[in-house]
Amino acid sequence: MFKEFFSELLEGNLIGAKCKECEKILCPPKSACDCGSRILEKIKLSGKGKIVSYTVTYVAPIGYDKEVPYVVAMVELDEGPWIVGRLEVDAERAEKEDLIGKRVEVYGKEFPTEQFYPDKQRRVVPMFRIIE
Ligand SMILES: [Zn+2]
Repeated sequence: MFKEFFSELLEGNLIGAKCKECEKILCPPKSACDCGSRILEKIKLSGKGKIVSYTVTYVAPIGYDKEVPYVVAMVELDEGPWIVGRLEVDAERAEKEDLIGKRVEVYGKEFPTEQFYPDKQRRVVPMFRIIE
């Protein structure tokens, strides 16, 4: 389900998994729920949520240095799970404005893959666009 998550994300769809035992929603989907159950059902999420925290990255891990500065955000989805991605605002705005609590919409963006990234074919990053 994990590869599908990224290909769907590129199409603008956010896929999660719902545990049939405890009803918890996982995003990105995993093969087992935190409760230990492996009976998970694929569901489509709204792709909307709010910013919980964010940081501006100036010093990137090896291989990502051409992409700095960028803003990494933690978003709480309307369905509950928290996901990490990049915020579609420039570093200057992120430093000046308080963006916590802003409503966002998630989409996928393809970046060039590089030597330390596990998937050599494709690298898709969840991106957040502020909608309010
Ligand atoms: Zn569960």
